[in-house]
Amino acid sequence: MSLLTVGTMAFDTVETRYGRAERIIGGACTYNAWAASYFTEDTRIVSIIGEDFPEEELQLLHERGGDTQGVKKIPGGKSFFWEGKYHSDMIGRDTLTTDLNVLADFDPVLPESYRDSAFIMLGNLTPDIQLKVLNQIKGKPALSVLDTMDFWINSARDTLMEVISKVDVLSINDEEARLLTGEHALVTAAARILEMGPSYLIIKKGEHGAFLFSLNDIFFVPGLPLAEVKDPTGAGDTFAGGFIGYLTATEDTSFNNLKRAVVHGSAMASFVVEDFGLNRLRHLNTRLINQRVMRFKDLVSFNL
Ligand code: AMP
Repeated sequence: MSLLTVGTMAFDTVETRYGRAERIIGGACTYNAWAASYFTEDTRIVSIIGEDFPEEELQLLHERGGDTQGVKKIPGGKSFFWEGKYHSDMIGRDTLTTDLNVLADFDPVLPESYRDSAFIMLGNLTPDIQLKVLNQIKGKPALSVLDTMDFWINSARDTLMEVISKVDVLSINDEEARLLTGEHALVTAAARILEMGPSYLIIKKGEHGAFLFSLNDIFFVPGLPLAEVKDPTGAGDTFAGGFIGYLTATEDTSFNNLKRAVVHGSAMASFVVEDFGLNRLRHLNTRLINQRVMRFKDLVSFNL
């Protein structure tokens, strides 16, 4: 089946205790599309870039089955730029710069061939744009997933609530779940969010793993204990790409399969943090991914 992913394609400057990487390729959509490409060869990408974004990057995604017709290049424009510095705990981070550049005027019009997409990934963007993309999809997709962040919860709550009411899965972190609901206990926050429309909720807890909630079930996948986390940037987007890529490939949206998808998403995220930017994601294969999924299984398996 087909996957549509919308989000930023960007340049990032990232500083962590392991070093500094200047103007490397990043963006939520880039991480998402790369992660998904290990599961499906039909990913339709919707984004906006400036003239400065390397053509080879689009070509690499194209070679991995990414359709880049929906990536609008603005002549003379500059791509979205984000700069962040991680605290020494490698969890907290400060955003030093966010230059919207071409993103400020993003008004996505989906190519006709994208409108029948079965799986929809609405990456972190203004809820307005997410809604515009969703409204251009013909019929009811098999599954739609929404990612957002504290900034939109605070600044565009009404439109965000409208998008939330229309998607099947909301994927946020624990602090965002609390901010969205005013509830501290995640189980209570999850119940409140499921009343807002989505059938499923993913609450990410960074290095501590992620919860998957439905009305009747809860599933938890731990974070894989890693010896070295060099750059956490894009972990959430990579998780989402692995999650939705796996679902697109397996064409099964049951809770049991969503559990497997959450583990595959976690496996992809555990790779991306091992090196700066996209470096680790560019050199994976199915064997490595399956081995890592088995490590998750071993981590939580026990006999009574
Ligand atoms: P994450 O670490 O999951 O928050 O994702 C980081 C990626 O998101 C980076 O590659 C950035 O280019 C991109 N990004 C940072 N801030 C924003 C924003 N406000 N809107 C959309 N994308 C962003």
